[in-house]
This record gives sequence, structure tokens and C-alpha cells, in this order.
Amino acid sequence: MADPVTFEVTEPIAAIAAKARGRGLCPECTGRLVGRWGHGLTNPERAARLPRADPVAPGPRAVPCPVCGDAFDRLDVWAERAVRAAEGVEWHRFTCGSRWDPERLAAEEALWVEVGTAWGESARTAFNRELGKTIERRTGAAGGPERPDVVFLADLPVGRMEATPMPLFLAGRYRKFDRTLPQTRWPCRRCHGRGCDRCGGSGRTYPTSVEELVAAPFVAASGAEGTRFHGMGREDIDARMLGRGRPFVLELLRPRRRTLDLAALVGELGREATGRVEVDGLRAAEADDVVRVKEAAPEKTYRVDVSGAAPVGKVKEAVELAANRTIAQRTPRRVAHRRSDRVRLRRIVAARVIGDADGRFTIEVRTEAGTYVKEWVEGDDGRTEPSLASLVGCPLRVEALDVLEVHDEGT
Ligand SMILES: [Zn+2]
Ligand SMILES: [Zn+2]
Repeated sequence: MADPVTFEVTEPIAAIAAKARGRGLCPECTGRLVGRWGHGLTNPERAARLPRADPVAPGPRAVPCPVCGDAFDRLDVWAERAVRAAEGVEWHRFTCGSRWDPERLAAEEALWVEVGTAWGESARTAFNRELGKTIERRTGAAGGPERPDVVFLADLPVGRMEATPMPLFLAGRYRKFDRTLPQTRWPCRRCHGRGCDRCGGSGRTYPTSVEELVAAPFVAASGAEGTRFHGMGREDIDARMLGRGRPFVLELLRPRRRTLDLAALVGELGREATGRVEVDGLRAAEADDVVRVKEAAPEKTYRVDVSGAAPVGKVKEAVELAANRTIAQRTPRRVAHRRSDRVRLRRIVAARVIGDADGRFTIEVRTEAGTYVKEWVEGDDGRTEPSLASLVGCPLRVEALDVLEVHDEGT
């Protein structure tokens, strides 16, 4: 229920009105000098209640208002510009902001001092609010700071409206069955995507990625200009991602359509990426989900195929010794180019041998987040201590690695 109108013209308010006279202020800017006094009134309504605060007649003035440059008379024009700037884009919620000549804003603050008001409201704040109301009335869309589909920015000095579609977030889990797929787009290291001899002009190190396969139908349906892919960690390119899959958030940048038939698009994705990638549990998400996915540090369970010239009894003994203990891992050389070189302590939560035949062993291991499993098995020339190879007492080699589960419950 709306508050009743309160606006009492006290002595200090009357004194402010007296000092504001003869300055050629528009009704909006006059009322805004006491914009934070009382409530339930628009600023022009405040101006109308002030004693003989002139000139407060709405409409064209001989000289533009020195504070706002008559911007408040042009709200309908700006709302029209907003609608046009967002043409072809689906939006139901919006926020708006405005860029002002800094000298105008400074002059307004100087005016507050001159007239002695403690209740002035900034032209920019008021303009943004009034423009929001005007756009709401004109379109039926909802203005407000939460989860806007589009953000409008009125550039007053330039006279131009910008409309920026906000990203659309989708969350789900992916499984990966292809041992040649990186998780995200991987531009060529030499040319950074422009195309060169090394990458055969493609600009890529790998022809595609989980990101691109997952995103394709959603990019086509939404008309997005690009994507960002946020995985809850990532597996090696040659590792499969099985079980319930790995949580991710797909961010569609500058989408033109936001109402998507997710079930149909997941079906399309399933057909296009058969045998390579599958997606489950896809749902609409928010920017907060990106933080949740990036900050989670879940344990993982792996299945590792290992070869080595050791008797199975010896390997089983070593795996038992390795389970439920902490290892020290210096940054592996294969990732040293992107992670700082230091020693990290990681826990091997559980480990067991689940199969063996002719110098091949299959090991299931559950580890703390951030454990390098290949290095734990092979030792990485002593950079992981103790490694399984050091406990067995002979060299071991990882032949294949699968992630069986990302244990993200409760994260
Ligand atoms: Zn004005
Ligand atoms: Zn290249």
C-alpha cells in the first residue's frame, strides 16, 4: 500500500524555494532541490507546492534548464530510443542508467550549496528512475536492478541510447566420451586464433571442444554472439568424463532470444554430439551459479588403467598403503606454463585395485580436488611424493584415465 503524501513547506523549505527563484530551473529540477523532503510526490508536484517558485510551468522554455538541459522534458524521446536500440532483442526486465556531462553534475552540487538544501537529489538518479518508469509505461516490461535482460545507457551529451543484452546462463552436467576433446575452445598458441601455418589456418589447436559442442544448438536458438563455459574443474583432454557428469554453467553472450525450449535443444545436442558429449539436467541459471561452480572443490573418483612390470600382489599392497594419506605434489611440468611452481598437499581419500591382467592394472581412486592423478601414479620424476610407482618400486605408466564421479554434493 502506498504511503500517504507528506510534504510540509516548513521555513527552511520556503527559504530554499526563495533562493531557487529566477534561475530558470525546470519544474523537475526545482522540485528535486527538495527531492528527499517528504514523500508520495513527483518532483514537478513538489515544485508546484513551493511558494511562488518560478518559473515552474511545464513545456518549452526560452532557455534550456541550466541543470538538466531539459533532459526531463525528453523522457518519451529517450524511451523511444530505448525501444529502438533493443529492437530484435527479447527482453522482459531492464535497468537503465545515463551518462551526463560531469560539469553539469558538478554545477548541480554547487547549486545545492548555494540554495542551502540538505534534501537535493541528483539529476542522474532521478533521470534514471523517471526514464525507467517511462519505459515501463510504454512497454509493460519490468524495470529494476535484479537480473535484467537488457541494460540501457542513455548517453545524454551524445544523444544516443545503448542497449546491452545481458548474458543468459544455463547450468547442467556433461559427460564426455571422446579422448580428443578439450573442455573449452583452444585457440592456436602461435596465432591466437587468427590462423597460421601451424594450425592450418583454423586458428585452433583442437577442431572442437565440449564448450562448442554443448553451446552450438543454444547459440543458434538464442542468436548469442559468443559463449563462456564454466566447468567445475576440468579433465584432461584424453580423459573421459563418465558417471553423472561434471557440473557446468554455459554463458550465452548478448543473446537476442531468451525463451528457449531447453528440452528440445538438449535433444538436438544429443543427436549432433552422439558418442562425444551428453548433457543432463539442463536448467536456467544465474550469474551466482558461475561463482558456485568455480568455487566448488569437490572430491573426484577416477578409474586409471596402469601398465608396469610388477606382480599384482605388490601393486595391491602399494595401493593399500597409498589410500587415506596425504601426498606432496610439485606442479607437474606439463602444466607449469599455466600454474605457479609450488608444492601442494593433496589427500588420496581411497584407492583399490579393481582389475588386473598381463601387467595391466585397473585402479579406482578417490582424491581431494586438485590432485594430479597421472603424476600420483607415475611420480613425475620425484615431483609427487609418495607416488604409487615409488611405493611399488618400479616404473608405472598411465594408459588411460576416466573421471567416474565429481562428488559435488553439499557444495
Ligand atoms: Zn531541469
Ligand atoms: Zn595458428
